[in-house]
Formats: sequence, structure tokens, C-alpha cells
Amino acid sequence: MNTSPSYTKIRQLIKQLENIISEEHHYLLSELNTEIEQLVTVLPDTLLSGEYLAKPELDGSSGCYRRGQESVFYCPRCYETQQDLIATQRINSRLRVCPQCIASIKPAK
Ligand SMILES: [Zn+2]
Repeated sequence: MNTSPSYTKIRQLIKQLENIISEEHHYLLSELNTEIEQLVTVLPDTLLSGEYLAKPELDGSSGCYRRGQESVFYCPRCYETQQDLIATQRINSRLRVCPQCIASIKPAK
């Protein structure tokens, strides 16, 4: 039995859809359910639970660390000194600021 947040959320959504979709189309939800059940058996638990995270890498065009497919820009100072991933706040196209260490971050290039 998989109990990851994503899986639980999908089950909740299907339940909600059952209430608003007419009876004659419930078979579609059953099919969807079956497909999802099959999918979760082949996916590793770590992937489903969101524990699979790419290693942050320095992004030259922002000067921040970025991770995998995320659109979050992490403070390079906090990461390099404390391995802390702190999402920076965008000030303008060339300047970001870290809410934790108050560093200003500019593109490396
Ligand atoms: Zn910082």
C-alpha cells in the first residue's frame, strides 16, 4: 500500500470527481484508478514521496543554486556555508536577495 502525499491526493481527487461526474461515466474513473494503481507499483517509493531530489547545482545565469526541474533559486551563500537551501526573492531581472542571510545575489556572468 502506497501512502505518499501525491497518491493520497490523487485518490481524493478521484473521489471528488465521482460526486460531480454522472453515473454513466464512472467507468472512466474506475479505469483511471486502475491505471494509477499499476503506475504506483512500478514507481519507486522515493520518487512518489518526493524524497528524490536532485543535487543543487550553481546556475551561472542567476548566481543561485538550482535543483532538478524546480523553478526555485536558492541562496549560494547559505548553501555553501551551511548546506541550507533558502529560496531567494527576486528583486529585478539581475538581482535577488536571500531572506536568511540578506545577501544580494547577482548573475555570475
Ligand atoms: Zn542566504
